[in-house]
Amino acid sequence: MQLESLNPVTNAPVGSVEVTPVDAIPGVVAAARAAFPAWRDLGAAERGRRIAAAGPLILERLDELASLLTAEMGKPLPAARGEVRSCGAGLDEEIATIVEALEPEILEDRHTRTVLHRDPYGVCAAITPWNFPISMPHWLVIPALVAGNTVVLKPSEETPLIADAWARILQSVLPTDVLQIVHGNEQQGKALVGADVDLVAFTGSRGAGAHILSAAGGQLKRVLLELGGKDPLIVLDDADLDRAADFAARNSFRNTGQVCVSTERIYVARPLHDAFVARLVDAAAALVVGDGAQQGVDLGPMINARQKQHVVTQVEAALASGAQLAFGTPEGEGCFLPPIVLTGVDHAMDVMREETFGPVAAVQAFDTPDEAVALANDTPFGLGAVVFGHRDASSVARRLEAGMIGINRSCGGAGGSPWVGAKQSGYGFHSGPHGHRQFAQVRIVSESAS
Ligand code: NAD
Repeated sequence: MQLESLNPVTNAPVGSVEVTPVDAIPGVVAAARAAFPAWRDLGAAERGRRIAAAGPLILERLDELASLLTAEMGKPLPAARGEVRSCGAGLDEEIATIVEALEPEILEDRHTRTVLHRDPYGVCAAITPWNFPISMPHWLVIPALVAGNTVVLKPSEETPLIADAWARILQSVLPTDVLQIVHGNEQQGKALVGADVDLVAFTGSRGAGAHILSAAGGQLKRVLLELGGKDPLIVLDDADLDRAADFAARNSFRNTGQVCVSTERIYVARPLHDAFVARLVDAAAALVVGDGAQQGVDLGPMINARQKQHVVTQVEAALASGAQLAFGTPEGEGCFLPPIVLTGVDHAMDVMREETFGPVAAVQAFDTPDEAVALANDTPFGLGAVVFGHRDASSVARRLEAGMIGINRSCGGAGGSPWVGAKQSGYGFHSGPHGHRQFAQVRIVSESAS
C-alpha cells in the first residue's frame, strides 16, 4: 500500500512511499538488533566520524531538500532552507559534543576506583512529528546513533518524503540496518513501540506521548517524550512594548503557529494592554500569507484541513463565549488561515487551555505579577515560557512551571542547553550534554583502590 503525501497548498500529491505492513515491523526491529553489536563495538568516536560524513551530503542537496520540505509541509522556502542547513552544517562539531558527553568518568574515593560508562541501550525507536520534519528526526536519531544504538525511525505520515530523503542520506554512510525507516500512521507507531525495542524516543502530542508511556510501561522500556505546549508570554508593566509585541508576533505566527514553543497565551499588564494589542495587530497585518514556495511569504498553509478545523473550532468557541477578534478571522481558502489576534479571552475557553498549534495570539489583561504567574501556571503543559519586563522579570521567571524560560527573549537556551519540557510537556529530554546522555545506559565498574 502507498502513503501519498499531499501539498497543503494545492492538495495535489507530491509523491508517495510504501507503507510498512504492521506485521513486518518485528522483522525490521530484529534486523536492527542484529546490526547492534558491530555498531556498538565501533566506539563513539568512530561512529561519530561515519555519521558526520552525512553533513556535506545534506548540504549538497540543500535546494532540492528545502523545496521538497516546502512542497510537503507548506513552510516558507527560507525557513525550509534554514531547517535543512541546520541539520547539515556543523554536523561534525555537533557530533563532537555528543562524543564528549558520552565519555567515561572516573570516580574515586579512598577505597574504590569506579569507571562510569555510558553504553547504548540497544534498539531505539524514534517517532517524530511533521512540523519540523527534518530537525525533529535529526534531534533524536543523531544522538541515539552516536551513543551506539541502532535506530528504527517512524516519521510523521504527513511528511514521509522529506524524512525518507534525509534518512537515505544517513543510510548511505552507515552500515546496513543501523538506521531503518518504517512508514505509516499511528498503527505503525504503536507496532514499533510494542516491538522488541529498548528505548522509545518520541516527539509529538501529549495524548500520543501518554499512550506510548503506558504501552512501554509493561516491559519498563525506556522512554523519552517531548510533547506539546501551551506557552505563555507575560508582559510586565515596565516591559519594552515594541520588543514584546515584535516577539509575540514572531513567536505566535512563525511556522503558521505550528511550533511546540509557539506563544499561545499572552498576559499583559492592564495599563499596557491596549497599546500592546495595537502593536501586535500592526505586526500581524504586515504578514503575508500564501504559498511558501513563492518569495516574500511569511505564513504558509496549515499542514492539513483537520489541523485547520481544530484551530477554527477553538477560535469560534472563544468568540461565542465573549472573546473579540482584534485581527484576522477564522476563515481562509483551503488550508490557509490568516494570523488571528484574540482579546477578551479567559481560562474557561479551550483556546487558553488546549494546545492550538495554529496562527492565534490570545491576549488577556492582568493586574498583578502574582496573578500573571497563577494564570501562566494554570495548565498541565510546561514546555516554554517568556517574560518581558525588568523590575520583577527574574522573580516571575523563577516561579513559572516550564522547562525553558526566556527573559526579554525566546525560551531557547545558550549552546549546550537541553531542550526540556516540564509537567506534561516532557518526560525525559534531549540536546546538550545532559540530553545526549539520555540515549545511553549508565553502568559503573568498580575496583578496590590499591
Ligand atoms: P502526533 O502525536 O499526532 O504524532 C507524532 C508521531 O507519533 C507521528 O509519527 C504519529 O504517526 C505517531 N503516533 C501517533 N500516535 C501514536 C501512538 N499512540 N503510538 C506511537 N506513535 C504514535 O503529533 P503531530 O500532530 O505529528 O505533531 C504535533 C505535536 O507535536 C504537537 O503537540 C507539538 O507541540 C508536538 N511537538 C513537540 C515538540 C517538542 O520538542 N516538545 C516538537 C515538535 C512538535
